[in-house]
Amino acid sequence: MNFVILDLEWNGTYSRRLHGFINEIIEFGAVKVDERLEILDTFEELIRPQVGKKISGKIVTLTNISNEDLSDGVLFMQAVSRFRKWSDGAPILTWGTSDILSLIENCRYFGGNERIPFLNQYINLQQYCESQLSYDPGKQMGLSAAAQLLDVDEGDFEHHRALDDSLLSLRCLRKVYDKQKLLSFLETADAEFYRKIQFKTVIVCDLTNPLIKRSDMVFHCDECGRHARRLTEWEMRNKSFRAKFECPGCGRKFTGRLQFKLKYEGLIVKRAFLPFDEKTKQPSAAEPDASQGLPNQLQSLEK
Ligand SMILES: [Zn+2]
Repeated sequence: MNFVILDLEWNGTYSRRLHGFINEIIEFGAVKVDERLEILDTFEELIRPQVGKKISGKIVTLTNISNEDLSDGVLFMQAVSRFRKWSDGAPILTWGTSDILSLIENCRYFGGNERIPFLNQYINLQQYCESQLSYDPGKQMGLSAAAQLLDVDEGDFEHHRALDDSLLSLRCLRKVYDKQKLLSFLETADAEFYRKIQFKTVIVCDLTNPLIKRSDMVFHCDECGRHARRLTEWEMRNKSFRAKFECPGCGRKFTGRLQFKLKYEGLIVKRAFLPFDEKTKQPSAAEPDASQGLPNQLQSLEK
């Protein structure tokens, strides 16, 4: 069994057809390895942009790719077809899901395709490395951060070039490689995979949302475990809810904070204990209702 570690560079540009921005892929870089993570081959392809005829100065600086380099590149769907032959059905590994999301976007735009033609099986390398390093999964470990944590020398790598970044990912993977564990992260690229990967987490900012259960709003004392009594109304701040509590058992007072995230898997409730005398926002002219009653039916998107 082989693995292919893929990395992409892209240029964010405005599409008149979409009436919005697209991350147009300008480079593929990949390394193919065997089960022992020995390198079998590498892949590099520059892609001639069709939406943003010129790439931004920021991307030129970041990647060292010039507009002249790109004008010799192949078209996106040609690169996809070459990469498909080269990767030969092997599981694709990327650092985080953003490369996959931009592939979906580009395949839809240029090929009218809802699927990525070469993707059969997938492993999120970032997720795997985070689990091996017991890194807080909420924090999203960047490739550079991982290289530093794993004591991988980044010195001889050109940053933000697709092939170099895929080779850097490989060096990180080698430090924490366990074949069976890695395979447990293998996902089949079926319809559910596409739904899940494109699902955008929503923070629920409305306490009357039917997904929120009454028991979600209950706090138990973190000292003695008794059911704590709520002293104030719920107040919304920073997309979370706060109220003051007092424990009838031991008298402890605290501020309880709740946040509701609607993820693909369902509603995730995050709760925290804050100091009781945590500053309460005073109602101001700009926000007259800050301390009063239930919040309005706001929902906000986060990436
Ligand atoms: Zn108590």
